[in-house]
Amino acid sequence: MAQLRDLRHTLRLGAVNRESDFRPNFENWSGNIVTRNTISFPKTDAEITTEIHTAKAGGLTITMVGAGHSFSPAVCDSDEVASVLSLASYSMAADATTPVPDLSVDPTAATATVNAGWMLDRFMAELGKDWPDFLCEAQTAGRIFTVGGLVSMCTHGGCMKAGLIADTVVGLRIIKAEGEPKMITDETELRYCRMSLGAFGIITHVTLTLRRITELEVKSSEDDMKMTEEFFANYFKDKIGKDGPLFQQFFFDFHQMKIYYGAWSETGVQRSQKNYQKVIDERAGSRGVGGAPVLPFLDEILDAVDFNYRSTDFALKGMVKVSCEASKLAWDLNFKGENDAFWVSSLPGAIPAAHYMAVMVPVDDTVNVFKAVKVAYDRFLVAEKEHKEGMCTYRPDCALEARFVWSSDSYFAPNYSDKRHSQLYIAIEQPTLSSNLYVNYDEMVKHGDADGEILALNREFSKYFFDLEKAWMATDRRTRPHLAKAFGFAPSAKDPDFYEPYNHQSVKHILSPDRKAKIRTKLHECDPTGVFKNKLVSAFLEE
Ligand SMILES: Cc1cc2nc3c(=O)[nH]c(=O)nc-3n(C[C@H](O)[C@H](O)[C@H](O)COP(=O)(O)OP(=O)(O)OC[C@H]3O[C@@H](n4cnc5c(N)ncnc54)[C@H](O)[C@@H]3O)c2cc1C
Repeated sequence: MAQLRDLRHTLRLGAVNRESDFRPNFENWSGNIVTRNTISFPKTDAEITTEIHTAKAGGLTITMVGAGHSFSPAVCDSDEVASVLSLASYSMAADATTPVPDLSVDPTAATATVNAGWMLDRFMAELGKDWPDFLCEAQTAGRIFTVGGLVSMCTHGGCMKAGLIADTVVGLRIIKAEGEPKMITDETELRYCRMSLGAFGIITHVTLTLRRITELEVKSSEDDMKMTEEFFANYFKDKIGKDGPLFQQFFFDFHQMKIYYGAWSETGVQRSQKNYQKVIDERAGSRGVGGAPVLPFLDEILDAVDFNYRSTDFALKGMVKVSCEASKLAWDLNFKGENDAFWVSSLPGAIPAAHYMAVMVPVDDTVNVFKAVKVAYDRFLVAEKEHKEGMCTYRPDCALEARFVWSSDSYFAPNYSDKRHSQLYIAIEQPTLSSNLYVNYDEMVKHGDADGEILALNREFSKYFFDLEKAWMATDRRTRPHLAKAFGFAPSAKDPDFYEPYNHQSVKHILSPDRKAKIRTKLHECDPTGVFKNKLVSAFLEE
């Protein structure tokens, strides 16, 4: 019965149910990266070592895939030939000579060591059952990522007392280029390895710090918004510090001029045991590697009939409102106290396929919070005006979203500061459902959408994201993109009116020259042949 709630389990119809099809080649969740690289699933250290030796002998790069949820070519690009490994079947728990448990918790040190191939939801289910007083120190909104993928990227949640998830890592068991596992606990070395996109080797186990907490309570509100500096100063003055709620999240609906606000605080009451596994079974189900939205049939139908609902006011405004209301519903489910660890993605369904663009803007006071939202509002107004004049058919169908995150002293971090957590950032994000929309020219051609109205729609969409990114980057010179999402938009070589992300020139300017030099030196030491250096890492490190 529980499984029936997930449409993907009932609609086993091949093309419409992407998850039930076993797709041996790597594709990412949002479908902008589709490769011919067959995924291998090593089960033990020995099998990983063999993969490394084979790749080295064949001059291939090894790249890891977690749950394939990065929008950027963090695993590999569509045209990048690589040996792609997944730890979905990996365990050393039953190894006869050197067993390593899949999960061990040290309540005294408040740390957990977990198999990097585990999904966060599995990890959380175990914690909730046996160690309910603990939560990961920082949580993402989603629960459908692997532990290895989360700490190899600049991922974050909305925890006001923490920063990036990777910065909660105090130990990594890594199989490096020579093929031997090594335990890294030295902070100097960890600063290189955290969020390094697999460039330092295959992470098999991660030791993360846990947060001892009491029962959480969730408050949500729907507040009127005024686009003035004064309003933002008042609204955010108590929300940009460490002393407020433990977690916060914001959605901005420019049609209604509303802010949907969710805040989670500790109650001081001891936590009860949590049955997260029940929540997982009854709500959205699991995700496999690559694209698997819960509304696949809707995506497929909209794609097949080339229908652009975004040109209809009623539909568009309704969709933006739904994106806020759906999150509010998730918060309200939290309020019932049944699933606070999955504090955002607690919906009785998963998320339709989407493209996300996100940047991290430094926050010294509320001024940059205002600027970051205003920039998005101004671009929204341009599209609305053009739409009214009958010129524009692309308008975002999801609300703008924001959370706060503290800076990181890990060398790959976009929101870098020499001292960890010394600078607050607002991570601000514009999603859009990907029905009929592409961030990759070749994918648009492959889907037969590179002409007529859908091409026009895509040119407008990509220009919208290009303009918005440019305006966000201009807000403050310290602004940086979220490296898992879409960033670095520039005119496509194949169509100057279509803008594609991951432009080489912008990618190579994200990390500062001194950090690039440091990482290059370290990588040369650890992996002289570059067996783990994929195209994106090379682009980040280019001089
Ligand atoms: C619907 C959705 C919601 C999202 N919500 C958030 C959010 O709330 N906050 C946020 O910050 N991000 C969010 N993201 C982005 C997402 O959290 C990151 O892309 C994350 O890295 C995905 O984890 P994954 O397991 O899918 O990793 P993948 O995308 O598969 O891999 C990410 C990187 O990690 C490397 N890697 C994976 N496993 C290993 C390993 N064992 N050893 C070495 N390297 C490894 C890969 O090579 C790659 O470079 C969201 C993405 C989606 C699609």
